[in-house]
Amino acid sequence: MDEVTVSSLAARLSEAGTTLLGRSLAVRHVDAGSCGGCEIALAAAAVLRGGLTRYGVTLVDDPRAADVLLVTGVVTRALAEAVTRTLAAMAPPRFVVAVGDCAVDGGVFKGAPSVLGGAERVVAVDLLIAGCPPSPGRIIAGLVALLEANAAPVRRSRRVEPRA
Ligand code: SF4
Repeated sequence: MDEVTVSSLAARLSEAGTTLLGRSLAVRHVDAGSCGGCEIALAAAAVLRGGLTRYGVTLVDDPRAADVLLVTGVVTRALAEAVTRTLAAMAPPRFVVAVGDCAVDGGVFKGAPSVLGGAERVVAVDLLIAGCPPSPGRIIAGLVALLEANAAPVRRSRRVEPRA
């Protein structure tokens, strides 16, 4: 995905976030058993640190300040509580995004004894972004699609699939 397209998606993300929330989009990331590949994709998308902050996306540590819970990894039995407790601390409107095949359904680790098999096994998920890992552009497009689908009128979760 070229820089012009990424910039366009980021601008739409900022606009949709402002429409829905009246401010920038705050994202809380939880690694629930990732290999690290999806974190590299997230970093490349500049969702986690730096780049997209200029478009109104901020990584936050406090779940009480978060609008989006972004889950990566297979969701192991040991880390399931980290996902559920983080979501429980978030105020509505709040959205859950599963990033990567592992967070979608366990991916290549599906069926392993310690693996629950994706975020939907423990919380309601608003958006599934498949890929191993998904491309940075697909992650950005997914966040855009989620916010635009929920921007007006404000309403609770509707699952959408990213177009890129
Ligand atoms: S989806 Fe692929 S890159 Fe992401 S955590 Fe799973 S194995 Fe790693």
